[in-house]
Amino acid sequence: MSDFDYIVVGGGIIGMMTARELDIQGARVAIFEHKTLGMETSWAAGGILSSMRPWAESFDSMVLSEHGKALYPYYLELLKQETEIDSEYIQSGLIIIDEAHSSKIKNWASNGNIALIEDKKNISCGISLPKHSVLLPDIAQLRPPRLLKALSKSLKQSSVSIYENTKITNLVTKNNRFQFVEFTGGKVSADAVIITAGVWSQSLVSNLSKDISVKPIRGQMLCVKADEIIIDKMILDGAHYLIPRKDGHILIGSTMEDVGFNNETTKSARQELLDWAYSISPVFSKAKPVSHWSGLRPQSITGKPFIGKMPSFKNIYINAGHFRKGILQAPASAKLIVDCVFGKTSFMDIENFNMEGFKKTLEFS
Ligand SMILES: Cc1cc2nc3c(=O)[nH]c(=O)nc-3n(C[C@H](O)[C@H](O)[C@H](O)COP(=O)(O)OP(=O)(O)OC[C@H]3O[C@@H](n4cnc5c(N)ncnc54)[C@H](O)[C@@H]3O)c2cc1C
Repeated sequence: MSDFDYIVVGGGIIGMMTARELDIQGARVAIFEHKTLGMETSWAAGGILSSMRPWAESFDSMVLSEHGKALYPYYLELLKQETEIDSEYIQSGLIIIDEAHSSKIKNWASNGNIALIEDKKNISCGISLPKHSVLLPDIAQLRPPRLLKALSKSLKQSSVSIYENTKITNLVTKNNRFQFVEFTGGKVSADAVIITAGVWSQSLVSNLSKDISVKPIRGQMLCVKADEIIIDKMILDGAHYLIPRKDGHILIGSTMEDVGFNNETTKSARQELLDWAYSISPVFSKAKPVSHWSGLRPQSITGKPFIGKMPSFKNIYINAGHFRKGILQAPASAKLIVDCVFGKTSFMDIENFNMEGFKKTLEFS
């Protein structure tokens, strides 16, 4: 008999939500994390619960995002009751201020019946805004470090076996079946394994499939504080955005850098983010930088995450490559993969998230 029913490799938001869902379904689960649960890319995220360019999203990705958005309020309420940690979910709304972006958003919102406020008289947020600004009032945010702390606490209170500071070095298979994971000093077996290792997923499965291609795109973020700045809505301007938190901290994001697995912060990025914030409002000259960090977004070659069973293997699954939407899509993505593992019908067809589904989409587009 195997040591566990399921092994989850990688303890970011995707891995922790996947392990939690498996545990809720009554499975015997182990999660392996190279470092500390939740301290890599997921920790670095801003926590905006929306796609940045929803009009350009594929249909499948949009359904996953919308399902994630719908699951969050109840999910976070349960997690708060369980752990007494508040992830600070707030429906603060998102203002889009650049002209090209706001006109695309207007079309997208009217086609999809999405609430949108165009009249500037009805949009206030504490700083003056360009005339073509539009507000999506229903967009919410949460604080990823708090959510990750809550998920880690929830798993530690559950019957999931947690192996932190343990890097999986190899997945051992026989006759196209997964047998056990290897790490320095040991091996653990399970009936199936689920890879949730973000940007590191490709290297874990490279000898099993050439189809899984996920590359890192670095994002740097600044956190500032100034008592004079009172912004109560998120502001989006191209790739840059502001996220105001309840305690007066404001996040200034973010960069998009193709620099491999280098997650250092740089002076030039810090200056780029501060210059952009000053350009939005001179009040930012009074802001004190509190912290500066970076994370590696897992960008998949298909433009949507890989979710499902690995081709040619009976019991190896993957849930990785969520790029800029991993926080938004995590609860839906965990539900979809766990439904697949248990052979249940889910809220959408998981086949859309494998390489074959991607090729099919290309054929019909
Ligand atoms: C600056 C920035 C801002 C962002 N803002 C948003 C946002 O506002 N909204 C949104 O939805 N998304 C946002 N994202 C994207 C989001 O953060 C990611 O899509 C998401 O965190 C990916 O989660 P993950 O669990 O796949 O990866 P990770 O959090 O990186 O987790 C993977 C884990 O696997 C572990 N691991 C790797 N290899 C092994 C191994 N061999 N053995 C054991 N463990 C291993 C790693 O240590 C890591 O902890 C942002 C990202 C960045 C960088």
